[in-house]
Amino acid sequence: MTVSPIHVIGGGLAGSEAAWQAAQAGAPVVLHEMRPVRGTDAHQTDKLAELVCSNSFRADDWTGNAVGLLHAEMRALDSIIMSCGDAHQVPAGGALAVDREGFAEAVTARLLAHPNITLAREEIAGLPPAEWDSVIIATGPLTSPALAQAILDLTGEGQLAFFDAIAPIVNLESVNMDVAWRQSRYDKEGPGGDAAAYINCPLDRDQYESFIDALLAGPKAEFKDWENVPYFDGCLPIEVMAERGRETLRHGPMKPVGLTNAHCPDVKPWAVVQLRQDNALGTLWNMVGFQTKLKHGAQTEVFRMIPGLEKAVFARLGGLHRNTFLNSPRLLDASLRLNADPRLRFAGQVTGVEGYVESAAIGLLAGRFAAAERLGRTLAPPPATTALGALIGHITGGHLDGGKGSFQPMNINYGLLPPLAPPKRDDEGRRLGAKEKTRAKKRLIGERALADLAAWRAG
Ligand SMILES: Cc1cc2nc3c(=O)[nH]c(=O)nc-3n(C[C@H](O)[C@H](O)[C@H](O)COP(=O)(O)OP(=O)(O)OC[C@H]3O[C@@H](n4cnc5c(N)ncnc54)[C@H](O)[C@@H]3O)c2cc1C
Repeated sequence: MTVSPIHVIGGGLAGSEAAWQAAQAGAPVVLHEMRPVRGTDAHQTDKLAELVCSNSFRADDWTGNAVGLLHAEMRALDSIIMSCGDAHQVPAGGALAVDREGFAEAVTARLLAHPNITLAREEIAGLPPAEWDSVIIATGPLTSPALAQAILDLTGEGQLAFFDAIAPIVNLESVNMDVAWRQSRYDKEGPGGDAAAYINCPLDRDQYESFIDALLAGPKAEFKDWENVPYFDGCLPIEVMAERGRETLRHGPMKPVGLTNAHCPDVKPWAVVQLRQDNALGTLWNMVGFQTKLKHGAQTEVFRMIPGLEKAVFARLGGLHRNTFLNSPRLLDASLRLNADPRLRFAGQVTGVEGYVESAAIGLLAGRFAAAERLGRTLAPPPATTALGALIGHITGGHLDGGKGSFQPMNINYGLLPPLAPPKRDDEGRRLGAKEKTRAKKRLIGERALADLAAWRAG
């Protein structure tokens, strides 16, 4: 009996990994890549898995870094992106950086040589034909306009974004609750009956003025010529708001009304920064209305001026870019299928993850899910205690819907994984300091993840 193919659209990081995984599982694959027939504004070559900017896959240490843990899990699952990255690495300290040409050539050659893979150099300029009954769409942040429009028509207004507007996200355990307090504005109850849904960080007048000075002086990232990112209302970068007038933020996202400082009820704050819960675990909190083009180093410095955030650990820093991504928590099921048309799966950056490695990781899962389905098997997502499971869990349900535009692209980070209590003492019984506890906790999370991944794989 001939098995009909899985069609993978887009031969970037995610599509290449998805095609490889499905083909390795025994399913026939047709990989459709539009380059060089049609280019994008960022890609320069016709190679599969081209890295459009940096050549780094970031930190490679699974014991101390969440993306390093993702590397380790992907290696354990025969990732083509990781094995070609390892084979073409260049010196980069603790990071995995690659020779981009050697890397993309190796991915291309291995995919072309695979007996189950056929490569079609063509743009899919609309919804895939009805007879394609298993499709993975992995067309990335620069999805061609015709396909993007077709997806938008299918998913509905507001469900496919063409720009991201990212506010920073803070790990809850790094917020100083001796300064910050929980309260919703005017103690208004949310749908769940919670009248203290936000974390509030108060600024007095001097602190506000110093914050505005630092915001205005901080270095900003430039837009690329082709990005044409609009400054749409309700989504202005905070530094642009501050440029319009020093009081603008105090009447916008930093307005202090309807709030009473629980630590100091008699003193009215001059301004307040609010944090809103971002994930179901309650470990990540986003800075409401704080989308920004400040450079990353400056963001850390400037946002730690906010009382309560002096030692903030940022799970994600802010940004504003041209991007194309779905409102995945609403649109996709747990195996990345579109609820409205389950023959279509999505993978890569278009699902709302961010970065080369995360995009490839979601490609890896999409390829495995599609192959299992094609070959009549069932495959559950990896456990939430693994980096792969945490990432897919976030985009298919873990993110808490905070209204229009609240779902924004996310890198892998420890805040997405269920927390573990840090050990208090080392093996010799010596009390651990704060930094040692953090290191020990990360290692334990890594050990738990790799053990749970091995069990999932065996199952
Ligand atoms: C300018 C820019 C700079 C970036 N810099 C970095 C960085 O430094 N580090 C980092 O980790 N991430 C970076 N990113 C994010 C990066 O794009 C993703 O991390 C990663 O490439 C996404 O992988 P992907 O497979 O989802 O998309 P891509 O790798 O972009 O692959 C999508 C593929 O789909 C093809 N395609 C699009 N539409 C169609 C269609 N209709 N039919 C057929 N083929 C189609 C494209 O040609 C492309 O090959 C950057 C993104 C941009 C836009």
